Amino acid sequence: MNNTTDFNYFNTQLVHEVGSSVGPIAPTITPSAAYGYVDAEEAEGIFAAEVNKPLYARVGNPTNAKLEGIVAKFEGGLGAIATSSGMGAISMVCTAFLKSGDEILCIGGFFGGTYSLVNETLARFGVSNTFCEVDDFEHIENALKRGVKMVIFESVGNPSLTLPDVQGIIDLCNSYETVVMIDNTATPLLLRPLTMGADIVVHSSTKNMSGHSAALGGVAVFRAVKEDGDKLLNEKYADVHKIVKKMGKKAFIAICKKRAIRDFGMTANAFGSFMTMIGLETLSLRVERVNQNVEVISEILDEKLPEGISVNHPSLASSPDYTRYKADFAQGCGPLISIDCGTKERAFKFLNALELVILTANIGDNRTLALHMTSTIYSDFNEEARKFLGVHEGLIRVSIGLEDPKTIAEDFLQAVNAL
Ligand SMILES: *Cc1c(COP(=O)(O)O)cnc(C)c1O
Repeated sequence: MNNTTDFNYFNTQLVHEVGSSVGPIAPTITPSAAYGYVDAEEAEGIFAAEVNKPLYARVGNPTNAKLEGIVAKFEGGLGAIATSSGMGAISMVCTAFLKSGDEILCIGGFFGGTYSLVNETLARFGVSNTFCEVDDFEHIENALKRGVKMVIFESVGNPSLTLPDVQGIIDLCNSYETVVMIDNTATPLLLRPLTMGADIVVHSSTKNMSGHSAALGGVAVFRAVKEDGDKLLNEKYADVHKIVKKMGKKAFIAICKKRAIRDFGMTANAFGSFMTMIGLETLSLRVERVNQNVEVISEILDEKLPEGISVNHPSLASSPDYTRYKADFAQGCGPLISIDCGTKERAFKFLNALELVILTANIGDNRTLALHMTSTIYSDFNEEARKFLGVHEGLIRVSIGLEDPKTIAEDFLQAVNAL
């Protein structure tokens, strides 16, 4: 699999894409909600997408456009749309492509918000769903045969840490001409699904992309539509054929703008996009460091944690995903590890004894974070859903940051004394 990330290449690309070489070096914030048109003819051209100028901030602004260009480039896509949050990006894509009567296939473990979007909200609007385990290719193929409209999965299960056969799933979706969207939040730069044949990649830029926890945001990135014989011309997607024929290779972007952004308004704001770019400048450096830290900390904890408390990460030989990790995620699978304390009571004691690690619901921060799962994000979920998502009573999710890995490992090891 073509998955080796040249961190030096991306360091160079990102600092120069974010910064300009003439005039203001930092990105410019354009906060205006509205934009004056030169004349009536220009207004007509802008609305027809024939003149490339800002129309109104709900459908885009110049600061977002700069961020979109940078993310599209490093993901290997044609273009992108910046959104108000990661959930904004996912709901934009879902509402742009799905309608009442359609079915969506969800593979593997999911972030809580995505799970309830599909299972409750989209269901309320008449979109049915089917979920399956990450390696259940029989279920996947049956759903594709039945004509599911969209397939979604996460590059790494959060918090289950299951690793999918990304290339295998993409290839199967392509053979059935079905749109496939991958949530790449945990693995920017480490995995580039558009270069592997995926249609859409989404990120919560709140997480690893920013790193600083100073901006909520999301982004969806799209491949170019093929001028002839694209899967979007399949009969399944008849309701967007008009846009595909008019917009050609940019059709994915037009579909999301016209069928979701314009009508739901999950648009990014200029200041948020500026802050996201400040994070992006150092993304490659941080991804390399965090993923090294994850392996070091996992190894120390695996060796030193006593009976009754254990660490799980695919880089450990004891993990069921170890082989796939080595083959497909050789430079890391993102900031998450999990710690199993056995019971909720022990998990609470352990968390309360941490001195440096921060208790919060975020991931991908520059600081190491931890959270008990069943009492927080998954408190609304029943036993069956928790089991499917790999969440159990003693489970703590940890997101590793940029600190000295030995210092962080020591914080976890001293907290064991409280048990
Ligand atoms: C956080 C997260 C989201 C949602 O992103 P927000 O920016 O919080 O809306 C979606 N997917 C994954 C994998 C996440 O971790």
